[in-house]
Amino acid sequence: MAHLGRREHRGKGLLVVLLLAAVTGGGVAAWLGLRQGPLPSVAISSDRPAVGPATRVTARFAEPQRGLGGVRLELQQGERVEVLGERTFPRPGVLGGARTGETALEAQVGTRHQAWLQEGEVVVRAVAERAVGYLRSAAPVIVETRLPVRLHPPRLGVLSKQHYVRQGGVGSVVAQVDPAAVRSGVLAGTREFRSFPLPGGASGQVFVIYGMPWEGVTAADVRLFAEDAAGNRAEQAFVDLFKPVARRPGSIEIDDAFLQRVVPSIVGQTPGLDASGSLLDQYLRINGALRRAILTQLGELCAKSEERFLWEGPFLQMPNSARMAGFAETRTYRYQGRVVDTQTHLGLDLASTSRAEVPAANRGRVTFAGWLGLYGNAVLLDHGFGVATLYGHLSEIVVEAGEVVEKGQSVGRSGTTGLAGGDHLHLEVFVQGLSVDPAEWLDAHWIQDNLASKLPLPPPTRSRVES
Ligand SMILES: [Zn+2]
Repeated sequence: MAHLGRREHRGKGLLVVLLLAAVTGGGVAAWLGLRQGPLPSVAISSDRPAVGPATRVTARFAEPQRGLGGVRLELQQGERVEVLGERTFPRPGVLGGARTGETALEAQVGTRHQAWLQEGEVVVRAVAERAVGYLRSAAPVIVETRLPVRLHPPRLGVLSKQHYVRQGGVGSVVAQVDPAAVRSGVLAGTREFRSFPLPGGASGQVFVIYGMPWEGVTAADVRLFAEDAAGNRAEQAFVDLFKPVARRPGSIEIDDAFLQRVVPSIVGQTPGLDASGSLLDQYLRINGALRRAILTQLGELCAKSEERFLWEGPFLQMPNSARMAGFAETRTYRYQGRVVDTQTHLGLDLASTSRAEVPAANRGRVTFAGWLGLYGNAVLLDHGFGVATLYGHLSEIVVEAGEVVEKGQSVGRSGTTGLAGGDHLHLEVFVQGLSVDPAEWLDAHWIQDNLASKLPLPPPTRSRVES
């Protein structure tokens, strides 16, 4: 700053001469504008509206005409000032030279980085100085933003009791959350399940239906959480009993006849899928990369869930069907005697007669009806609050996206489309995009003990006989 002041002073010798010239040519104000150039533009933004543990603050500076001389980002609370970032730029040479027309400074603000911060308010200050010239004033441009500082996590309390959950299964919890919380839910490993306001509940009462990922998560990794706008986070363990489930091995033999039946059909109906290499190469891409892409697509579809219970009572299993393969069967795929792939089966395979009528497992809205890669012809039903069911390998679909189907109403017929060895229904249940064990949802006792005992589920109103 001292340096810039001197520069300004030295310019004054020429000022008088030029002032005379300028008065004849135009207004003084216009001349001053020409001499100083436009003011640098300075803008401060932050990724959170408040400061807590860590808020990212960004200052953007621009002076495209003559360039910037230096920029600085400061944090102030009370008397204390901390320089968060600073940059100076070399003065362009007499014959011109590189000018810095724009730049940005970014810093983390919060107790993780400035342990001295206290509740209250901070000032974030961005200072821009213009490149110095003989005729230029270098008065800095200063922009300030005030952000509230909040250091206490939101209050969080568990209201429900008896939280039992199995590996790959589902649990529910009811909680009281501080009004300051902007986000709350259940964290299970790296998966986050959002909360919803409890229907009929008091202010701040929320509930979460969450899934336990099949792999790598135990009760210690499951916590209720609430976060405020400043990023202060409260977490609380609540699972009373966690039941690990043994991995079920499975083996699938792949032969050329199978590859010839399924691969060209899936490739032909999946635009953009890499169709190079042998049938086995293509099959492995379908079972690997395409499987993951489809799960991402399903996650997006599941995110558009209605905020009401569309379903009631236990979910229906396809009538007169046998359970052929269960949830989380870890399948080893063999081709000509060697292991070529391993995948975990995340649904329930149900076989009846071929082209059997497939009923909606419960009341829901059709969110997808059509071709879905390895699932073949498939229907996805949203049952509300993040719960969805998928019906795969159908030979025929009789519903359309958007319509509401009743429990037991046909969605289509079983078949062999997609990656299916024989005629069967692949039933998959999702909770906020995570595949969970469908067997729980088919069990009236499980529904009663784990969901109905905690949540205000709609009472069964229909007298439909559940076969
Ligand atoms: Zn299956």
